[in-house]
Amino acid sequence: MYFHTWKEKWFGLFKKDVPGLRLTDYIDPDWDLELVYRVSEYLKKGIIYIEATTEQRFICSMCKKDLGYNGVMMTDGVFVWPHVLSHYVEFHKVRIPDNFLKHILEVDFKMIEDSDDIDLDNLPFS
Ligand SMILES: [Zn+2]
Repeated sequence: MYFHTWKEKWFGLFKKDVPGLRLTDYIDPDWDLELVYRVSEYLKKGIIYIEATTEQRFICSMCKKDLGYNGVMMTDGVFVWPHVLSHYVEFHKVRIPDNFLKHILEVDFKMIEDSDDIDLDNLPFS
């Protein structure tokens, strides 16, 4: 299990067959249900910072649900994640790394309100 700390400030771009980077490495069936709900709601409120540039759809690898366009990234000004991450958290109990969770707890689940407050040049992936 790789639940500890993720050294990068982005999460959710998984690679097949790379230990520690597989989606299934992050499933935690014992993760607290209320936390699962609150974290997934937080992730859904993120500000879109990369829009899809493709017509390609993202199909959930686990339940085959159509999750919308591929390639949409969200941010809260500190972390960056793909918009599909909330689905994996909510429906498949994929657990975000502890440093990401710690950050969400520190801001008390409050999403940044004004996208002008985000320093795009200093985000991971920029
Ligand atoms: Zn799914």
